[in-house]
Amino acid sequence: MSGDNKKLYITNGHVVSMNPKREIFTNGTVCVENGVIRYVGESSGAPSSEGAERVDAYGGLIIPGLINTHTHISMSVFRTLADDMADRLKRYLFPLEARFVTQDLVYWAALHTLHEMIRGGTSTFADMYYFEEQVAEAAEQAGMRAVLGETVVNFPAPDAPEPYGGLGYFKSFARRFQGHPLITPCLAPHAPYTLDDEHLAQIASMADEFDVPVMSHLAEMDFEVSALAEKYGETPVQYYHRLGLLTPRLIAAHCIHVTPEDIDLLSDADCGIAHNPIANMKAGKGTSPVPEFLAKQLRVGLGTDGPMSGNTMDMMHVTSAAAKVHKMAGRDRTLVPASTAFELATIGGARALHMEDSIGSLEPGKRADIAIVSLDAPHMFPVFDPYAVLVYCAGPQDVRDLFVDGRRLLRDYSPLTIDPLEIRKQLGNIVEGVRTGLKSL
Ligand SMILES: [Zn+2]
Repeated sequence: MSGDNKKLYITNGHVVSMNPKREIFTNGTVCVENGVIRYVGESSGAPSSEGAERVDAYGGLIIPGLINTHTHISMSVFRTLADDMADRLKRYLFPLEARFVTQDLVYWAALHTLHEMIRGGTSTFADMYYFEEQVAEAAEQAGMRAVLGETVVNFPAPDAPEPYGGLGYFKSFARRFQGHPLITPCLAPHAPYTLDDEHLAQIASMADEFDVPVMSHLAEMDFEVSALAEKYGETPVQYYHRLGLLTPRLIAAHCIHVTPEDIDLLSDADCGIAHNPIANMKAGKGTSPVPEFLAKQLRVGLGTDGPMSGNTMDMMHVTSAAAKVHKMAGRDRTLVPASTAFELATIGGARALHMEDSIGSLEPGKRADIAIVSLDAPHMFPVFDPYAVLVYCAGPQDVRDLFVDGRRLLRDYSPLTIDPLEIRKQLGNIVEGVRTGLKSL
């Protein structure tokens, strides 16, 4: 499950370390032992490779695995349904989930999406959905690192027939995966508009009791902002603050509609923020004020959101969009430069999940979550600036290898821990069921 009990010697690449000095080693090597990075630097200073498995990067970029801080991976089964429909969430998505989501669907759709994530260089993801134990089983099989939030809502859910039944589900899920080397269970109150005050406050204290993170959509919707303003005269961020949810445990997705005072509250509480620029653009929801967050040193990472919202799990596309959307919104080419965007996808994501001590950069002592990006394709040449090539040129098809916790999940573009044909077959049957069922929705 955790790192293989062996040594890796990853060499002949440009190491983009994302360490505090942001060092880049042009002829670099990374040495790994038992899933932990032991050496990062120029190859000339590397320890002996004796007894180690040698991995040739063929002159490519050796980077930290990418971190997707917000998604709902099992929704890949609904990908391309109702993409451009108004009020899609309540009219379409919730009824679809009530009707079709089962343990089987969640497991196979999760594996399918994990296949996509592995091929795109993602090593850690933060998920919120139903039947999160099945997502955990899929992640465990694939060998991915994951923070997995069981969704809590005020209506019957696919895995919990009573409103707020996710709370009971979470307890057994958390007990089962407590102390797991790759899986961190967490609580996921869906949003301020799908839970009441009492249950949101209860979740804040449960998170303390179980010592787990909390992830939630926050300040995402226009109607969320106007309803809370009318009912309490509060912003969504003020509302969560009053209920005790604004703590270092919180990973807040979106944070689009925030005031300067809200940004101070998020900063003082040391919350994590998951910025989802592609999903937000596609839904026409507005632009999260990320440059302002960064000016306050907030913990900001990037997310794809679910496959119905962001459509793909392509973190490189998201990173590129994160650099561009703020330039467009601020009409300023210098905003969110490539080096900053790549930080958001790596060490920033680790900070948003409060996991920066163990992942997010290539440094001795950290877990060995490492991707190798090939520079062979025409769009990847020449390289005057490694951050620019990673953010403005690279796509998931350029990811050659991926290691998580020292275990190789992708070798020369082929996944090693999952069976894509079997997944596609199983998911194909499930999708046919959905297609038939849609006719009577
Ligand atoms: Zn979401």
